[in-house]
Amino acid sequence: MIHLVDTHCHLDWHTFDADREEVIRRAVDAGVTRVVTVGVSVASSRMAVELADRYGPVYAAVGVHPNDAGGFDGDSLSEIRALAQHPKVVAIGEIGLDNYRQTVAPERQRIAFEAQLDLALDLGRPVIIHSRSAIDDVMSALARRFTQHATRSTGILHAFSGNFSAAQRAFELGFLIGVGGPVTFKRSESLRELVRAAPLDRVIIETDAPFLTPEPRRGRRNEPAYVRLVAERIALERRASVEEIAEQTTANAARLFGWTSDYDTATP
Ligand SMILES: [Zn+2]
Repeated sequence: MIHLVDTHCHLDWHTFDADREEVIRRAVDAGVTRVVTVGVSVASSRMAVELADRYGPVYAAVGVHPNDAGGFDGDSLSEIRALAQHPKVVAIGEIGLDNYRQTVAPERQRIAFEAQLDLALDLGRPVIIHSRSAIDDVMSALARRFTQHATRSTGILHAFSGNFSAAQRAFELGFLIGVGGPVTFKRSESLRELVRAAPLDRVIIETDAPFLTPEPRRGRRNEPAYVRLVAERIALERRASVEEIAEQTTANAARLFGWTSDYDTATP
C-alpha cells in the first residue's frame, strides 16, 4: 500500500458539490491518505476549514489568492489569522502574484501577498505560493523574508513552471516545488527536464483539482485520486518506482506541514 498526499486542491469548488464525499473516498481508496484543500478567498478559506473539520483525510490552507485580492483589507487579514488557528490548518495559501491574468491591479496583489507572507512568518506556518508570469517579483518578496530561515522548509511554489535557476533560488530559501498534472502534458518538456534534475527532497505532488487534470484523463474534472498519475509520471521520468516517489514526496509534505509519520485512516 502506498501513501500519497495531494498537497493542493480546491475541494470547496462547486463542481464537487454533488459528490464531494465520494471524491474523498476515491482518493483514500487510491492511497491518497491526506489531501490539502487550499482557500482562494476568505469565504473559500472558511469552507476549506469546514471540510477539514468534517473529513479525517482533509487538511486546509487559508489565504487570499492574487486574483481575489481586489477587496483584501485588514478585516480579511484578521479573518485569515483567526481561521489559521484551527488545528488542521497546515499553511497560509494560496497567496502570490499573477501578472498573467491581472484581474486585480499589481499593487493590490502585492499588498495582499506581502501582508499574508508576514502573517505566515508571524504564525510560523509554511506558505503555498501562486506565481504566474511573476517569478522574479515573487522570488524577491520571498528573498526579503526567508533568507535567514532557510534551515527549515518554508513553503511550496505551487504549479512550478520556472526554469532551473529559479528553482535553485527557491531551494536555497527552503522552498519546495509543487508538481501536478502539467508534468504529463505534451508541451511540458522543460518541466519534465526540471523534474528529472531536481533533488527529490524538494519535490512534492499536487493536483490543483478540479483544474489541470493529468493525462490520460485530461478534459475531464480533476480530483485528488489522480495525484497518483502525477507520481507515476515522475517515477517514469526519474527511472524510479512509484513507491519510491510516493515515499519521498509524502515525507517531504509531512516535514513541511509538521505531520507525524502515522496516517489518518479515517474514511469520510
Ligand atoms: Zn490552486
